[in-house]
Amino acid sequence: MKTWLDAWPVYRQLTGSDPLGRGKAARSEATESVVSRTATADRVVQSVCPYCAVGCGQKVFVKDEKVVQIEGDPDSPISRGRLCPKGSASKQLVTSPTRETKVRYRRPYGTEWEDLDLDTAMQMIADRVLDARRKGWQDEDGGRRVRRTMGIASLGGATLDNEENYLMKKLYSAMGAIQIENQARI
Ligand code: SF4
Repeated sequence: MKTWLDAWPVYRQLTGSDPLGRGKAARSEATESVVSRTATADRVVQSVCPYCAVGCGQKVFVKDEKVVQIEGDPDSPISRGRLCPKGSASKQLVTSPTRETKVRYRRPYGTEWEDLDLDTAMQMIADRVLDARRKGWQDEDGGRRVRRTMGIASLGGATLDNEENYLMKKLYSAMGAIQIENQARI
């Protein structure tokens, strides 16, 4: 017959068949009722961690079309199931209520943030890039033909992968920029 003492893990450890307390003695009724989110997910999607250029493989568990858990993917030849603390916490990146889902803009001298639609924001960025390129353009430097712009520079971050860096280098060089760097080289 169970007594109130049976609810006490140390008692179960000392009197039961699990003297090291690494099995039955450490499990309570509450433990038994817990079901992992990975077991109840509707489907699992393979993905890649977006935080850095290591590109660790992830398994994204989805239930009712919502991300419920993200874990390391043992099939990834790069990370073999491992994730660092940032990658392990990446579910919050998707599901956090503080995640920004709109473009936010604060005008020069403005004191408040405004919401912009994406098309407007992209057009504003394109206008600024073209303007900076034009204003910083140099045909010559000390009599030598250079045909470059000093108005644009690019500093990439560690989340950029090889392919993205390749495309960025092509884009900026095509626009005439010469100051193109990546955080990973600093
Ligand atoms: S942030 Fe961590 S988990 Fe994500 S790709 Fe980089 S090393 Fe891997």
